[in-house]
Amino acid sequence: MSEPSIFTRILDGEIPSEIIAETENAFAIRDIAPKAPVHLLVIPKSEQYRNVVELAAGDPDLLAELVGLANSLAAEHADGDFRLIFNTGPNAGQTVFHVHAHVLAGGLQEASLG
Ligand code: 5GP
Repeated sequence: MSEPSIFTRILDGEIPSEIIAETENAFAIRDIAPKAPVHLLVIPKSEQYRNVVELAAGDPDLLAELVGLANSLAAEHADGDFRLIFNTGPNAGQTVFHVHAHVLAGGLQEASLG
């Protein structure tokens, strides 16, 4: 068994980070290094899936749950509009191999992709 991911350790309370929202199978935190006025991470409670491709193939309902949670958080923390990013693979900037969505919101009109 490999070490628990940083997100599992946050969920278990081993690493401090406020859980700002929670559903049956997912939770959300603020990114520690925000890249936008609102930068949240939406994360399945289970670290079974390493990336969004595995998640979509293995549990599409859970993927839909993440999208729904992102949508409600964008309404709560910004004006409802948001960018949803799943970095997939190290060459795309993925550093934590416990699937998670970046929810970026709040004044992104001028921001370029990436
Ligand atoms: P990735 O690079 O895998 O797509 O995204 C991982 C994200 O997790 C990064 O944006 C990074 O800032 C964030 N992160 C890493 N460690 C922590 C932590 O301990 N607490 C919080 N809140 N975010 C973290």
